[in-house]
Amino acid sequence: RNDQLAEWDRESFFHPSTHLAQFARGEAANRILTGGKGAHIEDRDGIKLLDGFAGLYCVNVGYGREEIAEAIAKQAKELAYYHSYVGHGTEASITLSKMILDRAPAAMSKVYFGLGGSDANETNIKLVWHYNNILGRPEKKKIISRWRGYHGSGLMTGSLTGLHLYHKKFDLPFEQVKHTEAPYYYHRPDLSMGEEEFSAFCAEKLEEMILAEGPETVAAFIGEPVLGTGGIVPPPEGYWSAIQAVLDKYDILLIADEVVTGFGRLGTMFGSDHYGMKPDIITIAKGLTSAYAPLSGSIIGDKVWEGLMRGSDESGPIGHGWTYSAHPIGAAAGVANLELIDKLGLVENAGTVGKTLNRLMNEAIGDHPHVGDIRGEGMLCAVEFVEDRANRTFFDASKKTGPAVAAALLKRGVIGRAMPQGDILGFAPPLCLTEDEAKTIVDATAEAVKEVLG
Ligand code: PLP
Repeated sequence: RNDQLAEWDRESFFHPSTHLAQFARGEAANRILTGGKGAHIEDRDGIKLLDGFAGLYCVNVGYGREEIAEAIAKQAKELAYYHSYVGHGTEASITLSKMILDRAPAAMSKVYFGLGGSDANETNIKLVWHYNNILGRPEKKKIISRWRGYHGSGLMTGSLTGLHLYHKKFDLPFEQVKHTEAPYYYHRPDLSMGEEEFSAFCAEKLEEMILAEGPETVAAFIGEPVLGTGGIVPPPEGYWSAIQAVLDKYDILLIADEVVTGFGRLGTMFGSDHYGMKPDIITIAKGLTSAYAPLSGSIIGDKVWEGLMRGSDESGPIGHGWTYSAHPIGAAAGVANLELIDKLGLVENAGTVGKTLNRLMNEAIGDHPHVGDIRGEGMLCAVEFVEDRANRTFFDASKKTGPAVAAALLKRGVIGRAMPQGDILGFAPPLCLTEDEAKTIVDATAEAVKEVLG
């Protein structure tokens, strides 16, 4: 509908990730959304879509939850805002910090709140640097991330992100950030490598990098338990234990970025528990409030906290904070959201329905000559398209095969995401997805693949 609202949108709204050429040609048309219920969203023309990506992997409890809306309204009426700088708190933010620690993996000490995943990762890096300054080793500052990792869009977090789009034209990454091998088994350099062998290879590459940089200069390693935006890639067998051994050997902290995997997406409360990781800091956002209000957090482990405490006399107030840290409305949404996840058994549902989604996807298109890989864990699933399956050759990127399948899927009323690098169609549905909805996603995907790839 090309009306006043659409015109204002084109004239005034610079949407994230806009293709600038579309803007220049006046083609940047956007769907205007007005409602949502469960796993579905609806636009102003009454078109309903099954959201196979939960917004941006964040509306974990699904749309239209009265309990969270009411908690937000109650907080807004009582006290919409007060800051959380030392000396002040709200019932919601204090309760939420306790609820997070009750659910977090072992050996976690404190929660520092932010607004989104990017600023939480900024916080993490500053805390790690502060920690090493206190321990009297100011040279231990480098951060190792992975190619294809996604950790945010800021300057430091864009540096940590291992996708070229986030570096190109921005003079990134910063020199303190290095990128190592992605644990991307389907893209392993040698097709004869087994999974455990590839994990050992990734760990060796990491160790080589640490030795080349000098272990005394490397502060932390950051990684998502399952690579998300980089292609929805669960790690190969044995990956995290192999990486953990290298980090322990050189006294390097592990930051687990659980912005996507936290609060149930893998069928466990945290991805760190799922893979037996021992993180020193955990990043949380998205599923913390199911995106009903912006809120993120850094869960700080015992080791980092004890280190920070050692310098408590000299360091004074910590020079880091946001106006909206622990915003009461976000915190109220978080409390109601975590209660709802428990009440509805959504962590368990993510495990069972996620398995169905992955199984049905394999049954429906696993043998298609242009489907190279179907992979997933919990309520995550990805389909990677290839030119030639036997030789694992990829389509030329300019053909935009992934986006074409995503567009064909959308015509059938289902949202999947064409991941930004490679021809990968990703799914990360709300954790409340039903078995029937999983089947709808798969049936529509099979039709879309047939339309585009025969
Ligand atoms: N970390 C991970 C793993 C993410 O997937 C994202 C966003 O998708 C972020 C960090 C950044 O979060 P935000 O977009 O809320 O800043």
